Amino acid sequence: TERKLVKSEKLSAVGQLSASIAHEIRNPLTALKGFLQLMSSSEGKVTVSYLEVMSKEIERIELITGELLLLAKPQAHHFKLENIYGIIEHVTALLKSQALMNSIEIKVMYEELPPIRCIVNQIKQVFINIIKNAIESMPSGGEITVNLKKKNKNTLFIQIADQGCGIPEDLIENIGIPFYTTKQRGTGLGMMTTLKIIEVHNGTMDISSEIGKGTIVNIYLPMYSLI
Ligand code: ADP
Ligand code: MG
Repeated sequence: TERKLVKSEKLSAVGQLSASIAHEIRNPLTALKGFLQLMSSSEGKVTVSYLEVMSKEIERIELITGELLLLAKPQAHHFKLENIYGIIEHVTALLKSQALMNSIEIKVMYEELPPIRCIVNQIKQVFINIIKNAIESMPSGGEITVNLKKKNKNTLFIQIADQGCGIPEDLIENIGIPFYTTKQRGTGLGMMTTLKIIEVHNGTMDISSEIGKGTIVNIYLPMYSLI
């Protein structure tokens, strides 16, 4: 019946995700095991360079598991009414030094807005992920603009625009697929997490991009009037 079909589809999605997670974690684990074997056969001589590589591999496992933990089901009581400015300001302050190091200026524009009902740390994570991608797309600097507006009475519109490398049209649809990355040391988990969080908040996201010009991420989130 139809019901069974839907269920088995979901199970195969879980299977695919598990397989790719297992793969991504097994690689650094295999490397760690190799170094331990090397170290135990070199009669107690531990070289600093081994330890450096090993700690890089451990960091990678930490990064992957950390991002996956964000997907854990949030509890209803973690939702709070929050002002979006505070959240954006915190995130831009957090990323300021990384932006400055890359000759990037982050500009925030907003109008007066009602609060959103959100899990603050998750919404922060959404903006960290998107603005980090924007920074990473602009190796020779430029401007990132964050625009906060009312789309209508009930909807908050947030636009994040960069002047980076852009994304080929046929690759935009890959964004958010677990482990899809075009970066040397990327995890390919940032946008999947972002999408999941926006979904949990009953919002939507779309991306448009032009090669060599930049990328625009649009997010729509429900707002709450306080009356
Ligand atoms: P990661 O940043 O670890 O690669 P993400 O899920 O954050 O993983 O992003 C997936 C891919 O989407 C990136 O590797 C990049 O190819 C593309 N991407 C996302 N945001 C942008 C952007 N602002 N400009 C250019 N490419 C982007
Ligand atoms: Mg990213």
